[in-house]
Amino acid sequence: MIKNIDTIVSKNIGEMEWVLKEFAKEAVKLDDKGELTITTLEKLAGKTIKSLIQIVLLMMGGFLSNVVRSEVNRICSCGKKMGISKRDVTTRILSMFGYVPVTRDMLFCRRCRKGQGVFDKELEIYGEHRITKGMTEIMTYMSQLVPSFERATEAIKKLLNIEVSPTQAQIISEEVGKRVFEKRKTKAELAYERPEDAAPQEVVKI
Ligand SMILES: [Zn+2]
Repeated sequence: MIKNIDTIVSKNIGEMEWVLKEFAKEAVKLDDKGELTITTLEKLAGKTIKSLIQIVLLMMGGFLSNVVRSEVNRICSCGKKMGISKRDVTTRILSMFGYVPVTRDMLFCRRCRKGQGVFDKELEIYGEHRITKGMTEIMTYMSQLVPSFERATEAIKKLLNIEVSPTQAQIISEEVGKRVFEKRKTKAELAYERPEDAAPQEVVKI
């Protein structure tokens, strides 16, 4: 369940309305100056779309921050029960559209000395890098496409208007690369030991 859903929706509809009205106002201004062209409007559209994306990101954050579950799983992966350590802690998750702010209470395991948000696991908010699967895919893809991590982050900035550091792109790409390598290795080992499971279509039964 998401609490305050109606408030979140009505508040953001209000903001969207304001953004679209501003867009129209600016267009009228351009027209008054005799500068209304598809080129000037395109620039204005960019600004407007950026504002609209911002509203959607805040809505995403609003949904995730207002999730209520009948039961809170307080058991740490080590088996010990965690206690609430802090209220209303905000973390920013980098998505492919920009940052999503999520506010939630924190749980802490005294044995592992590790903390996590109350529903982080259920909401797939994990990983020290706080980057969504979609954004991880884009960063990895871009890094493979161009010769350097600097160029990859330049391309991400140009196309998505999102700033990531070359170091960040490198760390993410290398981690993904390592995971892919390990997956392939497991698959190769499996193929060697049990070829009929790894590639059944290639094993001819006599
Ligand atoms: Zn623990």
